Amino acid sequence: MSPLARYPLLALAGIVLPAVIVAVLGFVSLRQWESSAEALFREQARDMASMAAEKIAMLLDRAADEALGRLDGVVSEANPAGVDALLAGLPLVQRAWLFDRQGRMLHPAAPAESDAGVLAALLAEVSQGLWEGSGRRRLGVGDRLVLVSVLRSRQGRPVLVALAEDPEWLRHAVLDATLKGREAPTICAVLDERGRPVYTQAPLERARFLASAPLPRGFPAWRVAIYEPPGLSARQSVRRQVMVFTVTLGVLVVVIAAGVLLTHRLLRRETEMARLKSDFVANVSHDLKTPLSVIRMFGETLEMGRVSDEASRREYYRVITRESERLSRLIDNVLDFSRIESGRRVYEFAPTPIEPLVRETLDAFAYPLAQQGFKVQIDVDPDLPEVPLDAAAAGQALANLVDNAIKYSGERKSIAVTAAREGDGVALTVADEGMGIPAEEHARIFEKFYRVGRSETQARRGSGVGLALVRHVAEAHGGRVTVRSRPGEGSRFTLWLPTGR
Ligand code: ADP
Repeated sequence: MSPLARYPLLALAGIVLPAVIVAVLGFVSLRQWESSAEALFREQARDMASMAAEKIAMLLDRAADEALGRLDGVVSEANPAGVDALLAGLPLVQRAWLFDRQGRMLHPAAPAESDAGVLAALLAEVSQGLWEGSGRRRLGVGDRLVLVSVLRSRQGRPVLVALAEDPEWLRHAVLDATLKGREAPTICAVLDERGRPVYTQAPLERARFLASAPLPRGFPAWRVAIYEPPGLSARQSVRRQVMVFTVTLGVLVVVIAAGVLLTHRLLRRETEMARLKSDFVANVSHDLKTPLSVIRMFGETLEMGRVSDEASRREYYRVITRESERLSRLIDNVLDFSRIESGRRVYEFAPTPIEPLVRETLDAFAYPLAQQGFKVQIDVDPDLPEVPLDAAAAGQALANLVDNAIKYSGERKSIAVTAAREGDGVALTVADEGMGIPAEEHARIFEKFYRVGRSETQARRGSGVGLALVRHVAEAHGGRVTVRSRPGEGSRFTLWLPTGR
């Protein structure tokens, strides 16, 4: 298998396959990451909830300590009205009730009507244990917390103190202080025992529940819950990452594929160029050899004095001259071509009349044209302006076109050379009725070393640099060379050169 044919396989094995493996591995690990991120997120939320619950409990307890401390051992059963004065200035307490062991209300003197519901729920909740112990409890009554504790009165008897905690204070001082200022984008809420939010940091619509933690013992069965706001879920952010990853990978694969394709084309061009170059060397050597052997043969024949009549001798001399001209043309082409390739070709422009240029160029071909029986038609517009040219280069370009017309003419040996004004320049046209060039080759024939691959072309001498040179000369003059040709009908090359530079 040639290296060129192996290349796509190598590219597949060496580049595309690893890219696919990386893609698959990346995708799998992102998936795993997604689920572990979710688990981590929930765990963090749980920690966050229990920390918040503890903090809330701590703040409430501290406030309760202060309130109960003011009452303990100070409350007098005889004068319970002093309670309000004792509790004044404590933001926690919204209302206070005092009961004796028999359940009689000591304070306030007359219960407000709105308190009836709270008190009923409260007394139903107060257990025997609470009277006997000295602990405290909080009861959730509606959306309120009621702190209940048994203290000793000044008379030494137990007094049940119930303090309704101000829900606003609870909200602002405790919950806000605890829950706000967290860095996390999650929403924190406090839910009552039925799961209804008593307090939320932000609206909970479309938020996703993550984790919750109960308030500690001694509090009602309220919970601190952590929610995830819509659009911020770990899963969504991982999905976004997956998207970014997939798109990046896609772009990468496309870039790699483009690179592989480009390299493949480059490699193909290089291989083609190497082949063309080696053909070129073979063709040039062959081209050099043919005229040389003719010159040598005719020279030797003349030297040996074998040619007796004057006419034949003259013919031999002409052949030698013609072949050496062909040789110099070939060598000039190759040398100029190498100069052009290395950027050393220098053009010297001077106003040049076109008619002599055309005539001189064709004169150089007079012998082969006549010998092969070509019908030649030259048509130069008489009032052509002078054109700024490098005469040698332009002559050489024209000679290459004429040389090709001779070479690639078949049975119909006819050449027409015309020079006429065209736009802001002069068009030099060389037309033949030869084998012609297929349309798909028109662009390529001007490439260096390129020769049409058909057998009839290949049978003729040539190096493939002639038209490349013509194009270069045309462009150096600010002009262009174009071709119109059909297989079997002949070709028409036009070298257009601008008059004003
Ligand atoms: P070469 O040394 O092969 O003639 P050129 O660069 O002059 O190289 O021409 C490139 C190819 O273009 C030729 O090999 C030939 O196939 C084609 N070509 C050029 N001129 C003609 C023409 N007048 N008629 C037919 N084919 C032509």
